[in-house]
Amino acid sequence: MAILRRGGSALDAVEAAIHPVESNLDDHSVGKSGLPNILGVVELDASIMDGWTLAAGAVGGVHGYEHPISIARRVMEELPHSLLVGEGADRFAKECGFPQVDLLTPEAKRIYSERLQGQGGGPGSPGGPSGDSILRAVSSRLTMDPEMAHPKDAGTVNVIALDRDGHLAVGVSTSGWPWKYPGRVGDSAVIGAGNYCDDRWGAAACTGRGEMAIRCATAHTAVTLMQAGMSAHAAGLRAMQNLDHLVDPYFGAMNCVAMDPQGRHAAFSTNARATYVWMDERSEDVQESPRTHVELKGREVTDGRRKATI
Ligand code: ASP
Repeated sequence: MAILRRGGSALDAVEAAIHPVESNLDDHSVGKSGLPNILGVVELDASIMDGWTLAAGAVGGVHGYEHPISIARRVMEELPHSLLVGEGADRFAKECGFPQVDLLTPEAKRIYSERLQGQGGGPGSPGGPSGDSILRAVSSRLTMDPEMAHPKDAGTVNVIALDRDGHLAVGVSTSGWPWKYPGRVGDSAVIGAGNYCDDRWGAAACTGRGEMAIRCATAHTAVTLMQAGMSAHAAGLRAMQNLDHLVDPYFGAMNCVAMDPQGRHAAFSTNARATYVWMDERSEDVQESPRTHVELKGREVTDGRRKATI
């Protein structure tokens, strides 16, 4: 807000707002101290989009850098590309001079070891999964775990900002789905899925089971519905309801935030008690509001001739 109040850009505000979340060691879902993949390696995803030019930058599966949102911004501003993943993203971060850090904190490592207990002890440990098929089975089982359907340690940060010049920007950063299969990239790095904005119509971002947002292009859907004349609330709600058509044995929690070019905002969650925080020019402090609760359960299909796939 300090940046916006002194006439700074929405892009700068979004990046600055995400930094402290990425550095917060008590938050095990974003940046340093994020929970690792099934092999115990932290892989970060982030994206940033500029509603003025529709420029976008994203990184997926970044290792060893605390601020993937800033790497995503450099991708947007310095490369003829929109998305870098894995080794290429690490290499670019190094070239940009970002400091390398150990993302896996002792606390995140402890949560990983505890959760992996009873699943064979954890990859690499005596009696733990080692073969590829076992790895896949454990990763899937943990994703289907009822506790993982509303994981207390899962999450992502979504920030939308509108500046004095009327430009919108969206930033998203996450350590992704805990215990994911190595190399899995979620919606947070996928423009249109977890992040989208266009100064003319509005902005949206998502958290939750990223595969659902990818399959329904949820953030883009919300913005397109605003283009079709819906309010931020109606558009976000419809984009969330659209997820109910998914056939998905891993169907899980989903959340969305949306804002129109006038700064009218709304937020949604499959969790009845979820809230979001916001500020406007008049706010002296952060305001907390309830998210609109959206009940979703997905579809079950039965067709004797064909097995449904996801
Ligand atoms: N959307 C993130 C992902 O799928 C995770 C989350 O928001 O909890 O990677």
